[in-house]
Amino acid sequence: DLWQGIDFSRSKAEARVDGSTGVKFCDVAGIDEAVEELQELVRYLKNPELFDKMGIKPPHGVLLEGPPGCGKTLVAKAIAGEAGVPFYQMAGSEFVEVLVGVGSARIRDLFKRAKVNKPSVIFIDEIDALATRRQGIFKESSDQLYNAATQERETTLNQLLIELDGFDTGKGVIFLAATNRKDLLDPALLRPGRFDRKIRIRPPGAKGRLDILKIHASKVKMSDSVDLSSYAQNLPGWTGAKLAQLVQEAALVAVRKRHNSILQSDMDDAVDRLTVGPKRVGIELGYQGQCRRATTEVGVALTSHLLRRYENAIVECCDRISIVPRGQVLLGGRAAEEVIYGRDTSKASVDYLASASWLARKILTIWNLENPMVIHGEPPPWRKSARFVGPRLDFEGSLYDDYNLIEPPLNFKLDDEVAERTEELIRKMYGKTVSLLGSHHAALLKAIKVLLNQKEISGEELDFILNNYPPQTPVRVLE
Ligand code: ADP
Repeated sequence: DLWQGIDFSRSKAEARVDGSTGVKFCDVAGIDEAVEELQELVRYLKNPELFDKMGIKPPHGVLLEGPPGCGKTLVAKAIAGEAGVPFYQMAGSEFVEVLVGVGSARIRDLFKRAKVNKPSVIFIDEIDALATRRQGIFKESSDQLYNAATQERETTLNQLLIELDGFDTGKGVIFLAATNRKDLLDPALLRPGRFDRKIRIRPPGAKGRLDILKIHASKVKMSDSVDLSSYAQNLPGWTGAKLAQLVQEAALVAVRKRHNSILQSDMDDAVDRLTVGPKRVGIELGYQGQCRRATTEVGVALTSHLLRRYENAIVECCDRISIVPRGQVLLGGRAAEEVIYGRDTSKASVDYLASASWLARKILTIWNLENPMVIHGEPPPWRKSARFVGPRLDFEGSLYDDYNLIEPPLNFKLDDEVAERTEELIRKMYGKTVSLLGSHHAALLKAIKVLLNQKEISGEELDFILNNYPPQTPVRVLE
């Protein structure tokens, strides 16, 4: 028997006993409200009997919901860490197996082990992978393997519901799950008595970004002269994960340059690397080339500054603030070229446009903003460069790499629709960006000149220029 000796039902959940997730609430920043709410779970886990005696029921299940990289996993670990209890973690995708019955056996096993070692915390990340709405859009697929997988997923989901319903007997176990696609979840899961607590984990604001940077800076050797608050201010939309990555990247740069600690210039380098990829060294540009390059660079920087200036005006749009403006910043390079030179565009601005299209596609699919579409995953690789604005673009860049392919929808019609809406969104944002930079034509020109002269331009200098060259026409950030 091929399978002999292999216990598929055994869940791969890692159990870290005695709160050795090592994570505490002080490692989490920028999501204070959520942490406040989650404190209650820690109190419960520390003394479930007391709650029981008082007749207080803990929440059945807690759903942490929000975009990737904002600390859902981190905060779940912190709950176990604070309470000093074992933490059982699995990703939703680990339950999704083609082998019949394996997923549900893993669920049973996971809950069993957590109950034996109670009080404890169970955490299922990307729960949407296992608990997608039944009767989904892909239901009528003619692909047999696909249908079998769907069937299997339903069985697994049912097992999860059974475990959640029988939870009263498993006192002392807290069940947490995370998703960035709440809309995809099967409504049965959201019914009272299952996930009766939903907590939104939002991307951090400027203050949160500063606190997060401080946490991560404290783990490395960061020079005191580095002004973390300027990064917090200037990186709207950056998540905790991205900020953690920034500090790591800066540490690598510092090591490479043989600095004794991380300097401001290392941080700047790291920001560049994470936004537009490593600097292309060895390409000597002629003066005309330099002008072009300065235009795109200033376009991106200025758009970022302008959006921050008008941040208060758009802050009401909640999530959009963090993502749409970021796409708009990327479009700034090409928009600046259009404002200064007319339509003809350079390679650099095409790169930015590629990143922006990629982002727009994510906005429409993964993050499900701007009129949600029922779809997740990227188009299959051979469709990747199907149709985009302007020149043919290639999505093989580094930005694409960090994208984790969930489940490519083999649905070309839907894919075309996404491509169309991506194009529409890009056009809309692009139009806005051109008009934003257009109304700051004088500031744009001045900043380009400064950059050409000095070879670099700081945030303060940009602000100074913006203050001294006010908009020539009224500014409309969002309709
Ligand atoms: P999510 O589960 O929401 O996708 P994670 O918790 O996996 O995000 O975040 C990945 C990493 O990014 C964390 O381990 C941590 O280093 C950093 N990070 C994310 N959010 C925060 C935060 N709010 N505070 C501090 N660090 C964070």
